Amino acid sequence: MSRERLYLFDTTLRDGAQTNGVDFTLADKLTIARMLDELGVDYVEAGYPGANPIDTAFFAEKHPARAKITAFGMTRRPGRSASNDPGLAALLAAEADAICFVAKSWDYHVRVALETTEEENLASIRDSVRAAKAKGREVLLDCEHFFDGYKANPAYALACAKAAYDEGARWVVLCDTNGGTLPHEVEKIVGEVCKQIPGDHVGIHAHNDTEQAVANSFAAVRAGARQIQGTLNGLGERCGNANLVSIIPTLKLKPDFAKNFDIGVSDEALGTLARVSHALDDLLNRAADRHAPYVGESAFATKAGIHASAIMKEPKTYEHVAPELVGNRRKLLVSDQSGRSNLLAELDRIGFAVDKDDPRLSRLLDEVKEREAIGYAYEAADASFELLARRLLGKVPRYFDVEKFDVNVEQRLNAKGERVSVSQAVVKVKVGDELLISAAEGNGPVNALDLALRKDLGKYQSYITGLELTDYRVRILNAGTEAVTRVLIESADETGDHWTTIGVSANIIDASFQALMDSIVYKLVKSGAPA
Ligand SMILES: [Zn+2]
Repeated sequence: MSRERLYLFDTTLRDGAQTNGVDFTLADKLTIARMLDELGVDYVEAGYPGANPIDTAFFAEKHPARAKITAFGMTRRPGRSASNDPGLAALLAAEADAICFVAKSWDYHVRVALETTEEENLASIRDSVRAAKAKGREVLLDCEHFFDGYKANPAYALACAKAAYDEGARWVVLCDTNGGTLPHEVEKIVGEVCKQIPGDHVGIHAHNDTEQAVANSFAAVRAGARQIQGTLNGLGERCGNANLVSIIPTLKLKPDFAKNFDIGVSDEALGTLARVSHALDDLLNRAADRHAPYVGESAFATKAGIHASAIMKEPKTYEHVAPELVGNRRKLLVSDQSGRSNLLAELDRIGFAVDKDDPRLSRLLDEVKEREAIGYAYEAADASFELLARRLLGKVPRYFDVEKFDVNVEQRLNAKGERVSVSQAVVKVKVGDELLISAAEGNGPVNALDLALRKDLGKYQSYITGLELTDYRVRILNAGTEAVTRVLIESADETGDHWTTIGVSANIIDASFQALMDSIVYKLVKSGAPA
């Protein structure tokens, strides 16, 4: 049986750019567009040409993309002709493969927000679609507030959609702009629309305000829609848009969708999904959601000992799909609850073949338990666990010694009479016979220490140039009778790998120092630096 084509439309660079705290540069936009194209989405909606300099510059660049680069903008303004609307002119002038217009489809909004007549709004849709078609562009119409509009006045909401379709728009996209519509409502309404407009011309644009944007997208597909709009990692204002990172693997791996539909994402590209998702977080300089479906670090993590031994025997027992299909990996957590089976599985994953009766295994397990009792949490710090295991089971080269370090925080008044803090660190490192002294200033004591530590490692310096700290988390714990500080540091390198290290101490600088050291040593081990 032949499968139907389902199209993916990404709006990370347009609707996703509305996210609080997200501000894409031109370079960010170009990078993300390339990532999306390589992933295999069909449309990359990149912004509003003419509305701001970055978007205008984006469309001025050449885009050797397979995906259709799409420009977004409004239909012509009420009361103006299509040829006499500067906003529309800028949109039509942009070097885009497709143009996505947004128009009102709720009669209430037409009256109150647009302050025009229902008929003039329909004429604006028709004129704008016609003008873009005349320019040779593929045309989409986003029907804003479609579901709320349909509930209030189904005939008018449908008339807006029909006006675009009849004028030759390739897609009419039904938007749940406020994000409050539920899956059963989406399914019913999209089903009604598909009686008037063929489903292979109907798209869904869902927002996540009831945490059902993904479910709403699938409900629309079940009812006949053949285009899904969404964003990477569900970026978007308020609670976000439908998350393509969850939608793509579901379409590819769940039989009910996979046997009926083809999408532009290849199996190979699916295997890069976790990397793409993390690359976006990196670009936004924020920590990845550990619990994100499919791609989160914990998406295939298991803690309890009995589950772990079952997973080792037969992964399907506790996994809904195989993690490697989406570029993720199985993770068996090493924690104080875990037994030998977890430990063995984790060692196996990092490449240690250890017999289950090996006495060193008991020593490692005891060590992990002792350390966890004083505040270490190895399940959150994979790289520190690996170093601990390597030290106990084999060896880790003594690449360098930190003979001493000195961290200084000074608070004083500056020349303008403002109170400022200055942090400095001096580190004395011995690499072989070489003694190296480095100093650095930072925006805080840990930052200064990190900079000084990584400034000059002599012959090892070239191995750590791509090392970058991506997250730093601190918790104060009560371990036994004393309060201690637990520091978790997340690092990344030029290959896109991520790892987490840990330090625990009564002193936050000491705890940070341990975690920083583990991160550097881990990077040296992983890069195969010679002893
Ligand atoms: Zn939206």
